[in-house]
Amino acid sequence: MQPADDLSLESICARGGWAADFATRPSAPPIWQTTAFDVDGLEQLAEIQAGKTSGFIYTRDGNPNHEAFAADIARLEGAEAAVTCASGMGAMSALLLGMLKTGDHVVAARVLYGRTGQLLNQLRDQYGIRVTYVDALDPSAWTAALQPETKLAIVESISNPLMEVADIPALVSAVKEVPLLVDSTFTTPTLLRPLDHGAQLVFHSASKYLNGHGDVMLGVLAGRGSLVRKAKAMMALYGFNSNPFECWLASRGLRTLPLRMERVSSTALKLAQRLATHPGVARVYYPGVEAHPTHQTALKMLPRGFGGMLAFDVHGGAAAVARLFKALKHIPFSPTLADARTTVSYPTGTSHKFMTAAERAAFGIGDGLVRLSVGLEDPADLERELLQALAAV
Ligand SMILES: *Cc1c(COP(=O)(O)O)cnc(C)c1O
Repeated sequence: MQPADDLSLESICARGGWAADFATRPSAPPIWQTTAFDVDGLEQLAEIQAGKTSGFIYTRDGNPNHEAFAADIARLEGAEAAVTCASGMGAMSALLLGMLKTGDHVVAARVLYGRTGQLLNQLRDQYGIRVTYVDALDPSAWTAALQPETKLAIVESISNPLMEVADIPALVSAVKEVPLLVDSTFTTPTLLRPLDHGAQLVFHSASKYLNGHGDVMLGVLAGRGSLVRKAKAMMALYGFNSNPFECWLASRGLRTLPLRMERVSSTALKLAQRLATHPGVARVYYPGVEAHPTHQTALKMLPRGFGGMLAFDVHGGAAAVARLFKALKHIPFSPTLADARTTVSYPTGTSHKFMTAAERAAFGIGDGLVRLSVGLEDPADLERELLQALAAV
């Protein structure tokens, strides 16, 4: 896949993390661990503030490590601008606070990362921002939900935990001139570039694949310059900024992103196919398998691979899941995803705990549902581990 400039995505990643040339020529970018930056004088101050000269003043407003990571994401996504914040939720908060005022309206997918939904509901209850939740797989419902005050539409590229792939071009036409924000955390720019399909904003929890080593909290937002600038202003005002070291680590992680995404996609496909034939497994949710309800959309949207996230239903409900987790020796139960290690999670007890059992059932999330975040281990080791644990169930 070719971004808008002359380097391919793999090359941009491999050389990433640089904000400026450095006279001593280190082979890796430095960490600008500094609160502020000295300024030549009032003239230069005014020029930096007006954006006429590149430069930095105070790390809450911007720092070379923030800038380096955001600039790489902007290039990888083909975006005019990007901003990075202290977490995915920080970036989402900065955007919503920057774009919305009381009385405005948002159309959002019914299945969203739990905290994103909670944030929208919080803005609704406290600040009078209105939200309509719709089925991500039904574009006509998005059109029907539009109001004159609709300012933003939000969808995830692959939903959690049933891994339904959104048809982004269909949603872009459905919401007409309203900007569509795509949470592409599960896909990353190596598998999907939402802006190429007409979305105006793309969001990532960089705590996940972009960093990919389970040791960073970071968020990033890229897209139309005018919208990203609004988010950036809120970042500096509310203090949602990240710190230089987290950005430096994420830039380091980003260098291997294409390799990692290729690997997790191929391993996840193998495991999904194997699990689908297992008698202890009622159903597998992975967009790469033919039986998945959004497989056709996945073929269209994700030609380079379907990512590393899958879920499966074990026969026997919560008790069977408890036995399965106990029998897993090398795969930890961890409430995150996209680590280098493979991890399992239990949506009913973690991400979707705030729902009632009836609500979960309506979403198709049963008590036997296990989510697997496939990592970089030898696929044969993972298969053996899962099969022996399923045998113990
Ligand atoms: C983790 C996650 C977020 C939130 O990001 P944080 O970095 O944890 O704040 C948002 N969307 C999705 C899909 C996520 O997985």
